[in-house]
Amino acid sequence: MLAALRTQLDIKESAMIYRHILVAIDLADDCHPVIRRAQALAESCQAKFSLIHIVEPMAMAFGGDVPMDLSMLQQQQFEQARERLDAFTERHNVPAENKHLAYGQPRQEIHRLAEEQGCDMIVVGSHGRHGLALLLGSTANDVLHGAPCDVLAVKLEKTTA
Ligand code: AMP
Repeated sequence: MLAALRTQLDIKESAMIYRHILVAIDLADDCHPVIRRAQALAESCQAKFSLIHIVEPMAMAFGGDVPMDLSMLQQQQFEQARERLDAFTERHNVPAENKHLAYGQPRQEIHRLAEEQGCDMIVVGSHGRHGLALLLGSTANDVLHGAPCDVLAVKLEKTTA
């Protein structure tokens, strides 16, 4: 009787390997399969599921030094990202409180939120770059380095949604 109970508890515990899965999305159409895969994993572990998108400072795209005021454009970019993130959360039934929109450098913000929210897995898409593109780096690689928890890179397919 006790042994059977222990086995049941062991099975339950091993099914709950992950408790909070955080999926980072760049809001492109190829994120949908990544979300679906992460949700399936979350369901199998009965884990909480959260989504995050980071709006990158526009100045960063221009190398940091821009001789003009980008604040209006940046605000517009932020609003567009919010709308698109809302569409993603609606489509995948993610509760509003599990949706996060941040501003800054993706790696830094993803790590910060993962720590803050006690996430034990981060899921990102991976384009599987090689050659010169690999040298230029990728967000998936970037997120992996110094991550506060496990990182799963889901291979992005060329076909979408
Ligand atoms: P990349 O290396 O930029 O092509 O992006 C690969 C993956 O990194 C995407 O599929 C997302 O999972 C994640 N990612 C890239 N940019 C962002 C962003 N701004 N916010 C959140 N996740 C991102």
